[in-house]
Amino acid sequence: MAVKVAINGYGTIGKRVADAIRLQPDMEVAGVTKTKPDFDARMAVKKGYRLYAAIPDRVKVFEEAGIEVEGTIEDLLQDVDIVVDCSPGKVGVQNKPLYERLGVKAIFQGGEKKDVADVSFSAIANFEEAVGKQFVRVVSCNTTGLTRLIYTIKKNFPIRKVRATMIRRVVDPKEDKKGLVNGIEPNPIKLPSHHGPDVQSVLPDINIVTTAFKVPTTIMHVHSVAIEMEGDVTEEEIKNALLEEPRIMLLRSSDGFTSTAKIIEFARELRLRYDLYENAVWTESIGVVDGEVYITQAINQESIVVPENIDAIRAMLELKDKEESIKETNRTLKIGI
Ligand code: NAD
Repeated sequence: MAVKVAINGYGTIGKRVADAIRLQPDMEVAGVTKTKPDFDARMAVKKGYRLYAAIPDRVKVFEEAGIEVEGTIEDLLQDVDIVVDCSPGKVGVQNKPLYERLGVKAIFQGGEKKDVADVSFSAIANFEEAVGKQFVRVVSCNTTGLTRLIYTIKKNFPIRKVRATMIRRVVDPKEDKKGLVNGIEPNPIKLPSHHGPDVQSVLPDINIVTTAFKVPTTIMHVHSVAIEMEGDVTEEEIKNALLEEPRIMLLRSSDGFTSTAKIIEFARELRLRYDLYENAVWTESIGVVDGEVYITQAINQESIVVPENIDAIRAMLELKDKEESIKETNRTLKIGI
């Protein structure tokens, strides 16, 4: 029988997680919540999702707008196995007391601090740690991208130290209230950016320092990563290790992938909403100089955490083991094919 999953916050991440759950044979979407009766709420209903008000006293606002809701978040949570909280950063922690009171397992997103949950999660790196847990946080888009890459290399070759620079998309494409039109913003200006410590919340023994800059683009982040190795390693060995991991994709600049714009154009052909769940590593960027490995990768911020949420559900509800869950998620989302 399929487990029932609630999505609290049908926004950028919530709608993608809901659509991904629909593709899983062992899960169903019990309902989704919205705070406002906007076009996203109408689309959710049109797509057949049962809609609930995320904030109880807003039921009337939906009704006045002619959108029927089934009830409130509390009604939705009465009969679910787990809730995926996809509310804006720092809001998930405010929703947590409700989940505790109702005894519902919950997954939080990377906008929350790590202490919101028992475990910070990235499927290939630490699936087992989330098994049976009550609260899990799927780490942010940048941290997911970095963790996958570092874990895949670390699994094959000993690592001494990682330095990474994040060139971050300033906002998501739908955003029209804030942005950076012209400029490059060191963000944060002081060392280190939060991404390094966040990677350590999943891989505690990794020595890592990160810096980050925001740039006027909306489609992807780019990471420039340098990894000091313990022993000798060749470019070929690194490439082969990355090729083994379905959640990492190797793309060649010589094939036309000259920038993130081209990677997204490719993803538009490949997937619904150009969701690219994989790290996109530029093959030609892989280099080894004086025992240090250099890699440049691009990350589609809106979708990379989607398979992680699916695997977190399976781990917390003990539906499948690590290998089986990741294989099923990859198959249903067509990752690595
Ligand atoms: P979003 O603003 O697109 O969506 C958030 C949704 O939550 C909206 O539909 C909003 O109406 C709803 N909401 C507002 N208040 C709520 C409440 N009290 N309870 C329930 N729902 C509420 O945000 P997003 O980009 O989807 O981000 C969600 C989480 O995912 C954040 O923690 C964010 O840091 C994280 N995340 C975002 C991205 C990204 O690039 N967008 C990537 C990885 C992780």
